Amino acid sequence: MDAPSLKPESLAAQALGWVDETTRAISPPLHASTTFIRDTDNQYRTGRAYARADNPAFDQAEQLIARLEGGAQGALFASGMAAATAVFQALAPGDHVLAPKVMYWSLRNWLLNFATQWGLRVESIDMTDPASVRAALKPGQTRLVWIETPANPLWSVTDIAATAALAHAAGARVAVDSTVATPVLTRPLALGADLVMHAATKYLNGHSDLIAGVLVTRADDAFWQRVKTLRVQLGATLGSFEAWLLLRGLRTLYLRVRCASASAQRIAEHFARHPHVEAVLYPGLPGAPGHAVAARQMQGGFGGMLSIRAQGGEAAAIATAAHVALWKRATSLGGTESLIEHRASVEGAGTPAPPDLLRLSVGIEDADDLIADLEQALARAHR
Ligand SMILES: *Cc1c(COP(=O)(O)O)cnc(C)c1O
Repeated sequence: MDAPSLKPESLAAQALGWVDETTRAISPPLHASTTFIRDTDNQYRTGRAYARADNPAFDQAEQLIARLEGGAQGALFASGMAAATAVFQALAPGDHVLAPKVMYWSLRNWLLNFATQWGLRVESIDMTDPASVRAALKPGQTRLVWIETPANPLWSVTDIAATAALAHAAGARVAVDSTVATPVLTRPLALGADLVMHAATKYLNGHSDLIAGVLVTRADDAFWQRVKTLRVQLGATLGSFEAWLLLRGLRTLYLRVRCASASAQRIAEHFARHPHVEAVLYPGLPGAPGHAVAARQMQGGFGGMLSIRAQGGEAAAIATAAHVALWKRATSLGGTESLIEHRASVEGAGTPAPPDLLRLSVGIEDADDLIADLEQALARAHR
């Protein structure tokens, strides 16, 4: 069934077509065991000894995500942050890394505080500008270039292929936080990236009911083995039930992401010409700064994330969020339900989010319902 020619939609819907050998079950058993029997000759022929290192509950989700991304191997982590920080901690103190100025705020805070104290030389640049990347790369010293595209919370777009070519010429690895794009819309490894990271908490699971992360590597090399060893040694291990739930969520990934992207495009176009809206930030709008690159790099949509800058500044933005009924006022993204949040309130000092910015995660509700609810909230906020 797992023929190489099958489309990713088919692979995801059937979780690679796996059927349990013993019971013929289509949905996998939930493996909770922390430990595994050693053979009488003192070997571990199953390759599993202890569940911090080897958990059969991970196998199918790791294999499916690796396949969808076109990578050699995947590894699940306890969270998106655990996956991302494992990549940086697999480097050596003194290594130079490039990170975007606009990126997931919690990882930016970790890089600028913990990682620099630990000895990484972290340089934050405008990753959307290849000239800035070229100028900042230090051949032989820069070991990693971290890309996030589209990037929180402005949805700025980085050209993965162009950036990877520059990084590789300088001897640096490229990792892409592809949480927002998902393999449905972008396949960073095919564009030259070495590693892909996802907060599986978001679209991959898609139901706002677990925290998980995943990395996929293009090559099973020494750096990847270091990353996997760190997962075990730092104990950044996902729980069995979370892995089981994640596989269930993955089966509907393509439907959910395409629906959210189509609705986000409609919502962006609708509010781009609205008297109570200053600006809509969405790479799917022809006037958006990253539109041309996004149109090349993303297939079948521009994702379910957009931001709206309210006319009337911070107070109007917060009042709009206060008046929604269908949208849920909450952080996070990538679930079936649409979420709205005043982003500067979440990120605090140092945020690139302007004070009038509302971040929207579009779910899979009816797009007209979502538009109508936002319309009435904007109207009430501007009364
Ligand atoms: C949520 C998120 C993360 C962090 O993932 P957690 O599972 O919350 O640790 C990283 N990057 C992006 C783009 C995210 O949205």
